[in-house]
Amino acid sequence: MYSAGRFDRVVRVAAERGLVGEAEPVAGFLDVDGVLDSAHDLFAAFEDVPVLHTFAVKAAALVPVLRLLADAGMGCEVASPGEFAQATAAGVPADRIVVDSPAKTRAELTHVLAHGAAVNADNFTELERMDELLAAQPSASVLGLRVNPQVGQGTIAAMSTAGESSKFGVPLREARTRIVQAFAARPALTRLHVHVGSQGCPLELMVEGVREVYELAEEINRTLRRPQVNSIDLGGGLPVDFSSDDRPAFAEYATLLRARIPGLFDGRYTIVTEFGRALLAKNGFIAAVVEYVKDAGGRRIAITHAGAQVATRTVFMPDAWPLRVGAFTADGKRKTGVLQRQDIAGPCCFAGDVVATGRNLPELAPGDLVVLPDTGAYYFSTPWSYNSLPRPAIHGFTNRDGEPRFATVRTRQSMAEVVAESGAEHRDALGALGRLEKA
Ligand SMILES: *Cc1c(COP(=O)(O)O)cnc(C)c1O
Repeated sequence: MYSAGRFDRVVRVAAERGLVGEAEPVAGFLDVDGVLDSAHDLFAAFEDVPVLHTFAVKAAALVPVLRLLADAGMGCEVASPGEFAQATAAGVPADRIVVDSPAKTRAELTHVLAHGAAVNADNFTELERMDELLAAQPSASVLGLRVNPQVGQGTIAAMSTAGESSKFGVPLREARTRIVQAFAARPALTRLHVHVGSQGCPLELMVEGVREVYELAEEINRTLRRPQVNSIDLGGGLPVDFSSDDRPAFAEYATLLRARIPGLFDGRYTIVTEFGRALLAKNGFIAAVVEYVKDAGGRRIAITHAGAQVATRTVFMPDAWPLRVGAFTADGKRKTGVLQRQDIAGPCCFAGDVVATGRNLPELAPGDLVVLPDTGAYYFSTPWSYNSLPRPAIHGFTNRDGEPRFATVRTRQSMAEVVAESGAEHRDALGALGRLEKA
């Protein structure tokens, strides 16, 4: 059971204000103080080296969050044209944006090179494509190559990017010589990029991946007799503990990196980071109304408004992505009383839409609230539009001085928007096509 009380006051005031309740049955909440504390921890861990910290936009693709982090000194790591547009809309200058899209089109490359954003090529074909584009149009972009250090997988295969046959980057063991040649042929290629994986990768494995790439940088510079590789992008992937209130250990990671790879910190290399989950996960929660409770097959089930549409990974891979659950009354007070085994189900129309199974919680009743902590990254900010459920509202809050204060990060999607994005403007298109064929 999730019994820590860090956000209890925020839940109470949010319920009093109706930010979650009958009219708003599910909402996301982001702790602005916590986000800034996390960014501060990151900066402190790398304070004495030249560094560019970028935020992995996919972890919370919300313009106000990108703006907050930009004000704290961070850039953005983007993996699609949409994320590039979001970073730009947040006012992040292109020279603080790193583009890692796995399937960059010529149009996307042309766009980001014209703006001067850093680009990490995923493979040799992409490098050749960039050669062609740069011959036509010079660019101020920093150019890098993503390498798969092939150091092995973490505990969640789907999140591990450094296995033998990962789809990402150039496989180091198979292509080492070719990588050195690619740098020799391209003096403008100055960065190496590695991202060992996201969640489930132990620190040791992450450090091992970085060490492989550092040694490759040293080899390239030695072979070419010039310090051509002058920055190393370490990626993100610092894991988050979803079972406790422990915060991600940026300092521990940096200490381990320093111990194992001292040369990385001697000032010859600018370090780039791309953390997402570690900055945001602990700083957000979902609150949702319990609509009904029922007994079936000997199980007590609470039907709530938080399911696969806001906790997609947890519903489909409950063992890899378990979440804690807090039980609150309709007026936002933490429930007490005898614990009872309950399943927490969601509002989606499929049987597997269950967020937590067999949890010991005070007995839930219709109108109560459930709170899912640690969902500040990749949950409510990455909704799934199953059943045409609207994207929920997101509220930022500060809880530092007296009463919590709130600001809107994103409004709930309206019914008109739900209908519009389902092709409403093309309502008669299919009937018209059918009539044409008959004629
Ligand atoms: C997803 C991703 C990140 C961020 O991963 P987190 O686990 O959220 O820190 C960073 N870099 C790349 C290339 C990614 O794909």
